[in-house]
Amino acid sequence: MLKKYINMFREDMRYVMSRRCGLDELNNFIMLIGFIFVIIALFTHKWIFVLFGAIFVTLCYMRVFSTNIDKRKTENDVYMRYMGNVVRSADYIKLIVKMKIRSISDKEYVYFVCSSCKQVIRLPKGKNKVSVRCPKCGATFIKKT
Ligand SMILES: [Zn+2]
Repeated sequence: MLKKYINMFREDMRYVMSRRCGLDELNNFIMLIGFIFVIIALFTHKWIFVLFGAIFVTLCYMRVFSTNIDKRKTENDVYMRYMGNVVRSADYIKLIVKMKIRSISDKEYVYFVCSSCKQVIRLPKGKNKVSVRCPKCGATFIKKT
């Protein structure tokens, strides 16, 4: 008897959730931010962090149970694109730093990263200012060697 009700409840929940936004990547991120605020609040005993944490968690629940799926999906797409850019920029900066270190340790060559296609370009040192053409994408730029 009880099992029947639980199953009915489950079916209802599944039906309700199928028409809701649910947990997407953006919600996971919002939840994480809220969680971090709560952790900070635990250590600092400042009520303001509890408030921030509560705001983020509330925001997350509002998105989870939102019926405006299209709008929530658009928000998530923007977030995913933004996060993709963040990851790509971080990789690009890492590569530039790596090539700078390599340039310093290499006595004969200087290493550049093409700003448009991320191709690594090697140039002999001591040529002063030179116009460089990327062999991969054809972009040209002035570099000092
Ligand atoms: Zn290039």
